[in-house]
Amino acid sequence: MGVRDDRSLPEGLRPETLAVRTALPPSQHGENSEALFLTSTFVQPDAATSARRFANMEDFTYARTSNPTVRSLEMRLAAMEGAEGAIATATGMSAILLLIMGLLRAGDHVVCSRSVFGSTIGLFAKEFGKFGVETSFVSQTDIAEWRAAIRPTTKLLFAETPTNPLTEVCDIRALADLAHEAGALLTVDNTFCTPALQRPLALGADLVMHAATKYLDGQGRVMAGALCGANRLIVDVFGATMRAAGMTLAPFNAWVVLKGMETLNLRMKAQSESTLAVARWLEQHPAVARVYYPGLASHPQHALAMAQQSGLGGAVVSFDVRADTPEAARAAAFQVIDSTRVLSIATNLGDTKTIITHPATTSHGRLTEVQRQAAGIGQGLVRLAVGLEHVDDITDDLQRGLSLVGH
Ligand SMILES: *Cc1c(COP(=O)(O)O)cnc(C)c1O
Repeated sequence: MGVRDDRSLPEGLRPETLAVRTALPPSQHGENSEALFLTSTFVQPDAATSARRFANMEDFTYARTSNPTVRSLEMRLAAMEGAEGAIATATGMSAILLLIMGLLRAGDHVVCSRSVFGSTIGLFAKEFGKFGVETSFVSQTDIAEWRAAIRPTTKLLFAETPTNPLTEVCDIRALADLAHEAGALLTVDNTFCTPALQRPLALGADLVMHAATKYLDGQGRVMAGALCGANRLIVDVFGATMRAAGMTLAPFNAWVVLKGMETLNLRMKAQSESTLAVARWLEQHPAVARVYYPGLASHPQHALAMAQQSGLGGAVVSFDVRADTPEAARAAAFQVIDSTRVLSIATNLGDTKTIITHPATTSHGRLTEVQRQAAGIGQGLVRLAVGLEHVDDITDDLQRGLSLVGH
C-alpha cells in the first residue's frame, strides 16, 4: 500500500520532477537508481516489533502485503495522480478485481460505460455477476443514460476515457457529480491518458485505475496495474483485501514500471504529437473514410477532450478505410495491415514501437456482427497505437497499403 512518504523532498514539486524523484529513500549504499528488492520476506529486529508491524500493516513484513520496490512505484504513481495513496497489482485486470472485491458485496450495483476495454466488460458482466454484483452498461457519452441507470443499490460508476478503439470521451466531472449525488464512487480507468495528460481525481473522481502494462511501463515489457485514491480506501479497504487475496505486483515488474515512469511525461507528449500528425495525414487521405482521434477538430468531443487531457489527444488513433461492402472493407484493412514493414501487427498499446490492429477480428472478434455494429467497430476499422518512430516512417508504412486500396 502506498502511503505517500516523500518527506525528504520539498513541497510543490512539478509533475515532471515527481515522476523522477518520488520513491522511498535510498538504502545505506546511497544508490541513485531505485533498488530492486527481490525478497519475499523481511527480517524483523525482535518479536515485539514484528507483532506491531503485522498488526498495523506498517513497514515491511511479507511481500504479499508490500515490498520496498513496489512501495516506491506506488508512491510515485500516487504523486503523479495527485492521490494520497496507490496500491499496485499484478495486472490491470487484477486492479479492477481488487476494486470490486474491496468495495462491493452481493446485491450492490455498478454502472459502467459499454465502450470500456473488452476484458473489463467480461469481468463485470460475467465474473462479478456470479457473485451477485450486477452491472448496467450505458452510453459512453450520454450522461442521461448514466443517470437513468442509477438504482438505490448503485455503489460504483466505472468509466474509461478515451475508449478503445474509437476514442470516445466522457465528461469526468459530470460523472463524478452524478456519482456523488447518488452516494456512489466514480472510478476512472486512466490507462489511455496517464497522469501525464489527465488527472481524474482533480476532476472529482474518487479512484483512478491503471493498466500499468501500457504507457507507465511504456516499452511493452511487463504486466502491472494499480488503484489510486484516498488512503481510507487504498490502505484501509484495498490494503486489507490485497493482504487476504494476493493479487500482488511482483517486485521485478514494479521496478521496470518505476523506471518507465521516469520518461512518461516525455513519451506521452512526443507520442501524442506524432499521433496528431498521423491523424491529420490520414484525414486528408483519399482511401480513408473516417478518422477517430480526440486531437482532431472533427472529433465529436474534441473540446471536452482538450480541456480534460491537457490539450493533447493521446497516442491511439483509429480509421476506417474506404470501401462499399463489409467484405471489401475487411480486405482493404487487411491489405493496409499486411503491407506494413515497420509497424508491429499485434494487440497491445503504450509501446515505443507502433502497433497496428484490426479490432473486428482481434479485440472485438468474439462479438457477434450485430454487437460489433452496435459498438461501431466496422470491418474496415484499423487501430494504431503510435510509438516513437519518426512520424514520416509511420505514414510511409501506412501509405504502402493505403495506396493500393480501391485498385
Ligand atoms: C490493457 C488494458 C486493461 C487491462 O490491463 P492488463 O494489464 O492487460 O490486465 C484495462 N484497461 C485498459 C484501458 C487497457 O488498455
